[in-house]
Amino acid sequence: MKTIGFACTSADVPLAPLSFERRAPRANDVVMEILYCGVCHSDLHWAKNDWGWTVFPAIPGHEIIGRVIETGTDVTRYKAGDFVAVGCMVDSCQHCDQCRKGEEQLCREGQTGTYGGFDRFTKEHTLGGYSKHLVVREEFVLRVPDGLDLARAAPLLCAGITTYSPLRTWNVGLGSRVGVIGLGGLGHMAVKLASGMGAHVTVLSRTPDKAKDAHALGANALLVSTDPEAMAKAANGFDLIIDTVPVRHDLNPYMPLLDVDGTLVIVGQLGPVDEPNTVPMVLGRRRIAGSPIGGIRQTQEMLDFCAAKNILPDVEMIRMDEINHAFERMERSDVRYRFVIDMASLAL
Ligand SMILES: [Zn+2]
Ligand SMILES: [Zn+2]
Repeated sequence: MKTIGFACTSADVPLAPLSFERRAPRANDVVMEILYCGVCHSDLHWAKNDWGWTVFPAIPGHEIIGRVIETGTDVTRYKAGDFVAVGCMVDSCQHCDQCRKGEEQLCREGQTGTYGGFDRFTKEHTLGGYSKHLVVREEFVLRVPDGLDLARAAPLLCAGITTYSPLRTWNVGLGSRVGVIGLGGLGHMAVKLASGMGAHVTVLSRTPDKAKDAHALGANALLVSTDPEAMAKAANGFDLIIDTVPVRHDLNPYMPLLDVDGTLVIVGQLGPVDEPNTVPMVLGRRRIAGSPIGGIRQTQEMLDFCAAKNILPDVEMIRMDEINHAFERMERSDVRYRFVIDMASLAL
């Protein structure tokens, strides 16, 4: 099917409109009109070829809210008119142990990215949500629960699930003591979700100036990580710390904050870290762990949880043709806390 998107044709040119073909729908495919698409930091890295493996032309976007316009003959869960969502992956092998457990993000054969992946049948390069239409197999389509604000929900599909998943893995609940490092797209969702689960949430920040924002998002406290006295006082005070900072930094100052068996979980694209000191890890049985997005079942659970608790990202709506400016602002962390593209602004 013919459609249009915003693509980059090389790493050093801005994104611009591109007409292209989506693959012909198969029997198990859902065809949707994209209504909103969130702007993730990965989109920017992909467009700029920061990881060195971008295939051009590239269309980013993996926080997608849409409306079903057509379904294949084998599709049973969705019909035209349904509001649906697609996140960071659009396929996986479906038969390995991880896929069978509903952990498709950990598929042994590798999941297929919403962009930057390759269709498992046609081997075509996948193109993301900065576009008018999308074709995805039914198993990777989520249902948008009634009552969830469509315009604001998009960032749940990457920022939301990336922070929800570790909160669930480490059994965060009423009274859990959760720390959040970094207050960007991911961090602000970690605060809202952990607080929605009943946790006592502390934002860890290098400066005290984010205290007001942290409280507005639902955090109970702000701990200034550059204040040695405050840090010493907070020792052994956390069950889980979610580190969302996407650039290289030292993890060592945070380790003594964890209580026995506590975990520091990294969800940002952080690359190498400075040499970790193993002493607090061994003596306090503390752990450093990583976590990607969640599986499809858990992503649906997260959407349902957010609808039930009325948890939504703080977003700034933009038009499709404002994306290059939005990328510039995102590079300066000048966004509260996520851009969302209103796809009605992209005319066919
Ligand atoms: Zn993302
Ligand atoms: Zn698999």
